[in-house]
Parts: sequence; C-alpha cells; structure tokens
Amino acid sequence: MRMIYLDHAAATPVAAKVLEAMQPYFLDEFFNPSAAYLPAKKVNADYEAAKGEIAHAIGAKGNDIVITAGATEANNLAFTSISENAKVLYLKTEHDSVRNPASRFKHEEVEVDQNGRIVINDLKQKIDDDTELVSVALANNELGTIQPLAEIATLIRAIRIERLKNGNTRQLLLHTDASQAMNLLDINVARLGVDLLTLNAAKVYGPKGVGALYVAHDVRLKPLTLGGGQENGLRSGTQNVPGVIGFATALKLAKEHLNGNRKKYAEFRKILLDEVKDYELINKKHALDNFVVLCFDGLDAERLIYLLEDREVYVSTGAACAASKGVRSHVLTAIGLTDSKINGSLRITLGETNTKEQVHEAARIINEVVASEKARIHA
Ligand code: PLP
Repeated sequence: MRMIYLDHAAATPVAAKVLEAMQPYFLDEFFNPSAAYLPAKKVNADYEAAKGEIAHAIGAKGNDIVITAGATEANNLAFTSISENAKVLYLKTEHDSVRNPASRFKHEEVEVDQNGRIVINDLKQKIDDDTELVSVALANNELGTIQPLAEIATLIRAIRIERLKNGNTRQLLLHTDASQAMNLLDINVARLGVDLLTLNAAKVYGPKGVGALYVAHDVRLKPLTLGGGQENGLRSGTQNVPGVIGFATALKLAKEHLNGNRKKYAEFRKILLDEVKDYELINKKHALDNFVVLCFDGLDAERLIYLLEDREVYVSTGAACAASKGVRSHVLTAIGLTDSKINGSLRITLGETNTKEQVHEAARIINEVVASEKARIHA
C-alpha cells in the first residue's frame, strides 16, 4: 500500500481537473491580461470570469473580491481596513497570519471554551469604543472548530447601532478566515454577516500561493503592494491567471463534492474513533468532519509522527508552520490542555486522497506505533 496522507489541513494535492483547467494558461494563453491585443483581452476576460466564479461560490460578485498570493496575504490585507489607533480583537486560537498583523495594533485576544468555541460574553466585554475589527476564523486549523459567525455578526450589528446612537462613528468590522472551512461548509457572506472573508486555494485542491479576500462594499482597504494598479489598485502585480483559473475550478469542485465528502469524512472519522485504542478525543464538538485530534497522554506526539512516517502514514501535531518551528501549540494551550496532553496530541485531517481501506490501515498502524512507544517507555 502506498503512503497514507492524513494531513490535508496542511496541504491538499491539486485536483486533476484543476491542473487541466490551469494548463492552457501556462502554455498557449500566457498573455499579460493588461496587454492591448486581442489574445490578451481574451485572457483578461477569462480571468475576470474566474474571479466571478470564485466570488459566486461565497455568494458575492467578482468586484467584491481581491485576489491575493494566498491566505496569509488576504489576512494581512484585511488589517489595512482599520485606522492606526484602532483596537482589534481576535480569537486566541487564530492562525499566525491573523495574530501577527493584529499585534501591530492595540489588541486583545478573545477566549475560547474547551471545544475551541468563542466565549461570546468575553468578546462582548472586550469590544470597546475604539475597536474597529474582530477576526474569528470560520473553522480552526488545528481543531477544525466551527465558530458561530452569524451569532457574532448579530452582536456586532447591535453594537454598531448602539455606537451610532451614542455618536461614535468608528467602524466595527467582522473578518473571518475561511481557509479550512471551504471544503466542508457551504459559505455565503450574507448569511455569515461578515465584512471581510479570506479564502485559500491551497486548502481546496487548488494551487498554493493563491487566495482571495472578500470585501464588503462599504469597507475601504489600503494596498499592501504598490505598482501597476491591478485588482482595483489593492494588489498590484501581473495577475496569476493560471492560479485564479485553478482556484475557480477547485471551488466549483468543492461545492460539487461538499455533501458526499462530509458523509465520507464522518464515516472515516467514526472508523478512526472506533478502531484506534486508548486515546482521548480532543475535538469532541463543533468540529469539521475531516478533523480528528487524538491525545495519547504521556507519549510524545513528535516521536509518534516520526514513527508513523517510517510506516508511510503522514499526520501532524498541529499547524504545519508551528510544527516545523517546534513551538507549543497556542491553540491547544487556549483550550486548556495540560502540557502533557499537548505533547501527546496528534492532528489527523482527512481528505479526498483517502479511502476507507486507508483509514482502517492507518488505525491499525497508529495502534502498533502507540503500543511500541508504550513498551519502550515502560522497558
Ligand atoms: N489561515 C489558516 C486558517 C490556515 O490554515 C493557513 C495555512 O495553513 C493560512 C491562513 C495561511 O495560508 P497560506 O500559507 O496559504 O498563506
């Protein structure tokens, strides 16, 4: 049996249909979309149509989105919506591409409960007259926890009305990073009630280094890069035409696969929970169906990962970037896990590359590796 890849939150392979859709734009249709001749105008029209499709996938229009070089850039761009002296709030479990730009402003972290869900009352208390932006990921990248965005949006709307009554004209915006959610949830910006929303092609079987930021009509951004004025002046630089064509195709496929995948992952998740032995399930509630976080308290998950790698099973301890730096997960810390439990936690993220046979096999191999580690420790 070839490798069993269980780290789809870190990266997804580009789907064959996505690659096929992109290929002409590397070869025959390579023209700069800003050029004046007809073939370039056709490329520009294809690019704009693909943008329209990306926007449509979240219930928006092509003009409402800015194409970026990935979700990190989209998250950074979202923070240009606020003034220098503003305060920002973000969930304690946010990705570093939100936490780091937020740290340049007056900021506070909003608490989560043991499932990683936002403590709404804490958010309510921390929104003060200077707060301009609240950033809450739709689904967390370590636990898969889905946040009640519509509920948060309702609170924010009520505070906006209150502010206006009191003569406070400061904006109060809601941003969500939907990088991990797009595969598993049917996303609509109006239903969520968000002003800014980040998308990531790399997590939906599209190309890496391509993302988008949805921007509501009344939100004003500042460009991160200056140059030729592409993307309404917000993201100068020659458009990544193949990337955007691939992204649009990937999102179309994600929509088509949504229900089937959810059912499949729920079944696979149950197989893991039934067949893996002696673990504590960390993400018990409100999680995306493809996220399974298992804790083997007393064992070192880093060692388990290397031992699993030897057996060609690829899993992770948390966010791929945090894992490579060897830092303790701020997400698992935020949900109140002890150091020992954090050290023993494995993140398994299922995806379209997986089959039922692979999941049974992975459970068997995990059991063997865990048993061998326990035997080594007790020897
Ligand atoms: N946001 C979330 C929730 C993510 O999971 C990731 C990637 O792991 C990112 C942002 C950053 O994406 P990229 O590295 O593609 O810019």
